[in-house]
Amino acid sequence: FLSCRFFTNAAFLYDFKEQKMRTSKYLLSTLKENPVEAAVVSHRLMLRAGLIRQIASGIYVWLPTGMRVLQKVEKIIREELNRAGAIELFMPFVQPADLWKESGRYEKYGPELCRLKDRKKNEFVLGPTHEEVITAIARREIKSARQLPINLYQIQTKFRDEIRPRFGVMRGREFIMKDAYSFHIDHASLEKTYKDMYDAYSRIFTRLGLDFRPVEADNGSIGGSSSHEFQVLADAGEDTIVFSDKSDYAANIEMAEALAPAYDRKAPAEAYSEKETKGCHTVDEAAAALGLDAKQVLKSLIVRGEKKEDGTYDLIMLCLCGNQELNEVKAGKIAGILDPIEFATESEIAAFTGATPGSLGPVGFKGRIIIDRTADKMANFACGANHTGYHFINVNWDRDVPNYEVADLRNVEEGEPSPDGQGTLHLRKGIEVGQVFMLGTKYSESMGATVLGEDGKPINMQMGCYGIGVTRVIAAAIEQHHDDKGIIWPDSMAPFQVAIVAIKPNKSQAVREAAEKLYAELEAKGVEVLYDDRDERPGVMFADMELIGIPHVITIGDRGLAAGSVEYKSRKTGQKEEVSVDKILDFVC
Ligand code: ATP
Ligand code: MG
Ligand code: MG
Ligand code: MG
Repeated sequence: FLSCRFFTNAAFLYDFKEQKMRTSKYLLSTLKENPVEAAVVSHRLMLRAGLIRQIASGIYVWLPTGMRVLQKVEKIIREELNRAGAIELFMPFVQPADLWKESGRYEKYGPELCRLKDRKKNEFVLGPTHEEVITAIARREIKSARQLPINLYQIQTKFRDEIRPRFGVMRGREFIMKDAYSFHIDHASLEKTYKDMYDAYSRIFTRLGLDFRPVEADNGSIGGSSSHEFQVLADAGEDTIVFSDKSDYAANIEMAEALAPAYDRKAPAEAYSEKETKGCHTVDEAAAALGLDAKQVLKSLIVRGEKKEDGTYDLIMLCLCGNQELNEVKAGKIAGILDPIEFATESEIAAFTGATPGSLGPVGFKGRIIIDRTADKMANFACGANHTGYHFINVNWDRDVPNYEVADLRNVEEGEPSPDGQGTLHLRKGIEVGQVFMLGTKYSESMGATVLGEDGKPINMQMGCYGIGVTRVIAAAIEQHHDDKGIIWPDSMAPFQVAIVAIKPNKSQAVREAAEKLYAELEAKGVEVLYDDRDERPGVMFADMELIGIPHVITIGDRGLAAGSVEYKSRKTGQKEEVSVDKILDFVC
């Protein structure tokens, strides 16, 4: 069957226990109407094609058709990761809070982390990611430098209590991630595995038929890039990516999001309470003065402002820099200012941030600001993408937050010169389907994961981490591959390769026999085939097969059979062809 011309892809080799299926015995679950709750195409089509059903906000059931797609994606991911030398394991979804306290993230992670207690009052979290657990395993199991490097991965459920779950599985609260973690004796070894994973990701997303771009992502500190995101280009994307038309330069401009409620032109003084924090010199002091828990406070923000005629400054934008934790903290209200805010010249700000003079705008403040993340009035903040000598400033505002202005904020604009001096920049919307990250010794240091060096002294292992949003990938693929009739799967993801639509099988023995024969023959060839034997109106059956997006549809009816033929239709091209009954098997295979 390797000669099948439509099925050169590995998906064809997928070892389903049940390759074939009859719609009469299946849970097709298609919907005729557009569900009102779906704001983007992929969400709408995933519901209509019977792939998913919401069971609670951001929490979904994968119906049988969706499950088949999910398994296809997982198989490709496994193949490419195994090929890159990664080894599969499986870690618990429920994790002891103690590990998170060790790493320091129990305090820092914020409200996306779901915390719970067991009957003995022991504290746990639902894993939003698994650095802590893998580091706990590594420090126990890896004793010798000879065991390094090692790269371990799992495909697992994650839970993040996202502030605004939306777009179906694109931003769910419970979702499936492939997460890999590598351990190394030194940075050179980490860099090599990072590159291998970057390449594996490129192969995975290529095999999944996606139009994607690897882009530089925030690496938590200014300068140099030790993180890339893989972005699927699609208008429904929540990220904006910027890339040069003349070089490989590409980055996420995820940046200071709107200051919506905090920035109020009419009452800028109320946007923060300088008085309350006067004289405080640490985050802890400021937090105490404000009656906030230190974990509700962010550090290391750069504030940008605009001088007004009366000599005071309007706060117009925040530009965060600092550590990776900030990336995970995206909402809050300005509660106070930590340091006495100093006016800084452009070059001072540039020196402070490592940014290129000019990229920061005309004037700025230097100082630190307090964010109260428990406030009900939310502004969204996000880290930005950095490039050596260049720090992007942009608004990635939240459309759902009313009352804020973007007019004064500097955007990276279409046509701006690229920071690498080559070509001009273009902006596109992107869906982040994966990210690779050099962690360094962040976790091995805080959690004590060491191996013995040649001199007998312990060395903190270098770490990398690598994630793919397995469930999000499917939504992203649909955003790129659909028409007004439904999904047009890339062959590698299609839940079935061939559909047989039998016209009035209950009335015609000839149709029934021809359909059953073809069904059996396709199965024998290992083709995943869905036989629509519902005896519905033909229009209903066609519409369903097109909605589900099965690449090859074969229709068997009396009229064709009388002329010795069946009808073949390609979902991708829409082209129809009469094919003689004895040639159809060879035709699709
Ligand atoms: P985002 O910026 O979209 O919130 P993230 O940067 O927080 O994503 P990572 O921690 O990098 O996510 O996790 C790895 C991958 O998991 C992401 O690249 C994305 O594909 C996927 N992912 C993250 N959050 C979600 C979610 N809420 N729903 C579905 N997939 C998600
Ligand atoms: Mg996130
Ligand atoms: Mg992100
Ligand atoms: Mg990410």
